[in-house]
Amino acid sequence: MDKLNVKKIKTDFPILKQKVNGEQLVYLDSAATSQMPVSVEEKIKNFTEINRANVHRGVHTLGLRATNLYEESRQKVADFIGASSAEEVIFTSGCTDSLNLVAASFGEQNIQAGDEIVVSIMEHHSNLLPWQQLAKKKKAQLNFIEISKDGRLDLNDLKNKISSKTKLVALTHVSNVLGTINPIKEAIALAHEKDAVVLVDGAQAVGHFPVNVTNLGADFYAFSGHKMFAPTGIGILYGKKELLDKMPPYRFGGEMIANVTREGATWAETPQKFEAGTPNISAAIGLAAAIDYLNSIDLKLIQKHETELTAYALEKLSNISDSTIYGPKESYERTGVISFNLKNIHPHDLATALDLNGIEVRAGHHCAQPLMESLQTESTVRASLSIYNSKDDIDKLVSSLQEAKEFFSEFR
Ligand code: PLP
Repeated sequence: MDKLNVKKIKTDFPILKQKVNGEQLVYLDSAATSQMPVSVEEKIKNFTEINRANVHRGVHTLGLRATNLYEESRQKVADFIGASSAEEVIFTSGCTDSLNLVAASFGEQNIQAGDEIVVSIMEHHSNLLPWQQLAKKKKAQLNFIEISKDGRLDLNDLKNKISSKTKLVALTHVSNVLGTINPIKEAIALAHEKDAVVLVDGAQAVGHFPVNVTNLGADFYAFSGHKMFAPTGIGILYGKKELLDKMPPYRFGGEMIANVTREGATWAETPQKFEAGTPNISAAIGLAAAIDYLNSIDLKLIQKHETELTAYALEKLSNISDSTIYGPKESYERTGVISFNLKNIHPHDLATALDLNGIEVRAGHHCAQPLMESLQTESTVRASLSIYNSKDDIDKLVSSLQEAKEFFSEFR
């Protein structure tokens, strides 16, 4: 297999050319938001300058062009994630919105008092709070699957926690703190044995390795565009058509109806019944351009690059004395989301010190406070890798960490 040409890829992202605090920018926060290549910007600019109009409304030429582009984007997403048809792809404003859609529609309809919802302890708050709220409202039980010491999902615990009362299992594909790639196909098969429906949070998975929702057997699969080189404000909810067809809409307004009278209304077919109001058309078109960009590089090559770089980073970071790295030690079990701490230095202090050297990382609880509690820490530093990162970036990170360590040791 070929190698990624990182030097060339970097030139696709003009933002990376700049200096920050007088130093060459090293962007290591792609798990929060990835950068956007020129080709995506150009596609959006082209739409704005030539084809901009609302969708599914006008019979005029621009309206038809915009509608075609929007629906072509839906088909592109369907092909990219292996959905059986574009009708299974709903445009949302982001992964959080997709997860809330399932809670507000499927959850409201199907979860009753005494039912059980299962999540893992490594969920992002976006895949926890909708279920916590729903469980409270419906008097259902929320159960947590625990993780092993090195941050892997405990499949035995999953088997114990899923029972005939379980209506829904909501599980992340990849942890946004530990980088763990969960055995999602096995988890889905186990849940299906008990007739539970499975929602996968794919925010940290899509764009990093090939994802095929049909092959995984996922009932629902949610992700965000801005973490895979597309604009902010666009996300996807994939759902099996037979499930979506039975679900009620949860937001009401224009373009989601079949017919409206004074007394009531009937709904459009899926996916339109879930897309009330004017959607984020240009971002949907941008998402299709991001998929073209990913396909032009090849996801298998991206996965190989990120796995190799993760192995390199794990080794270098573990050589820093007094470092704690969270998550699996083997790079093939995880992605390039690397959380760590240096003894006696607060993560925010470290992130600020790194920023002074032009290195952008995230510090905090990463919207995963129950996981932080189980890791017995309040926060971590998180460096997250993408296709535009190289070994040089990791070397700069490590040497800056060493520098910061020395600096802070003077205050002890
Ligand atoms: N799920 C995971 C695993 C995430 O990492 C994130 C964002 O960091 C989300 C959900 C929420 O994504 P968004 O803020 O784009 O809705």
